[in-house]
Amino acid sequence: MKRLSEKIAAVAASATIAISDRAKKMQRDGIDVISLSIGEPDFDTPRHIKDACIDALNRGETHYAPSNGIPELLNAIGEKITRENHFSCIPEQVIVTCGAKDAIYEAMEAVLNPGDETIILTPAWVSYEPCVQIAGGKVVRHPVNSKTFQLDDSLLERVNNKTKMIVVNSPSNPTGAVFDTKSMNLVADLCTDYDIYVMSDEIYEKLVYDKKHISLAAVDGMAQRTITINGFSKAYAMTGWRLGYAVAPIEIIREMSKVQQHTISQATTFAMWGGVAALKGDQSCVEEMRKEFDSRRKYVISELNLMGYETAPADGAFYAFVKVAGDDMEVASRWLEKGHVAATPGSAFYSPGWIRLSYATSMERLKEAMGRIKRVG
Ligand code: PMP
Repeated sequence: MKRLSEKIAAVAASATIAISDRAKKMQRDGIDVISLSIGEPDFDTPRHIKDACIDALNRGETHYAPSNGIPELLNAIGEKITRENHFSCIPEQVIVTCGAKDAIYEAMEAVLNPGDETIILTPAWVSYEPCVQIAGGKVVRHPVNSKTFQLDDSLLERVNNKTKMIVVNSPSNPTGAVFDTKSMNLVADLCTDYDIYVMSDEIYEKLVYDKKHISLAAVDGMAQRTITINGFSKAYAMTGWRLGYAVAPIEIIREMSKVQQHTISQATTFAMWGGVAALKGDQSCVEEMRKEFDSRRKYVISELNLMGYETAPADGAFYAFVKVAGDDMEVASRWLEKGHVAATPGSAFYSPGWIRLSYATSMERLKEAMGRIKRVG
């Protein structure tokens, strides 16, 4: 048989899978495993969003829609971006996708040529690198400061004439860090000086606790070179709806649109009506979930610190990033095998020596999990 694609063979399988597969097997064997490895809210999608989708189905919104998205949703996103993210956005600058992940993939395909370098700030979410590789780009990793989890001038050392894009994810998965004005200005200065595009993944923007979220496209000179990624999964507990979007200059959206037209065609028609209800409806559901995450965050971080663990500044998202002594894969295995707590080793995010715990689970289960971690050490 002829060999399968070398490009895809070079993409690493997700390092998160090994532990989560073991956790699932233990659960099937009847063991009470507490999963702190999941990256999704434990809340149900708010009622009014589900109702809008059900109404759409009942009205017969079951056919193809415009590829970039229904006009009602493009308008709602444009208004939301202009109002909340403080940069101007017309519907032609929006594309609705099957989850934010799809927007990330399409953007990489639209921007990168073979060999173009893309800087990924580590610790980094698992799918940026594979998306760069699939698009034919070259990954250049750059670690954020390991104490502050912010950026400093060392970023400049990664830039050369092949640098095409920087991926910024604030609030961050896996660290929970939120980039401050200084970090954002540093990225902006580099990008304007060296003509670099930015992918700004702001999917956790609504889950910020003590700090303020900054949208890179709102920084001077950045709107024309920024692709803002966002979606409904985290803010509205809609992970299974597969609904996300990108906002970018029209020329970039036009290229992303070609990728979309020839692959997925569009996001699901009736799901998009749920998206309209999410953006235009009462936002108190978002604040209620944020407050609940905030109290869990305070509990988990203080427990971990009391146990003697150093943690990254948990200013956003719903993750505690914990420094562990020794090999993170071994520690995660021990917590799973002996404590029946599933967590994700930092190696999955190119950060060995750390472990990511998701606190998107009930306070009761979190208390039980902390007790177990304390016991097994
Ligand atoms: N970006 C980040 C940083 C994420 O954590 C995730 C989901 N884990 C995504 C993008 C993708 O989200 P979606 O469900 O909208 O595809």
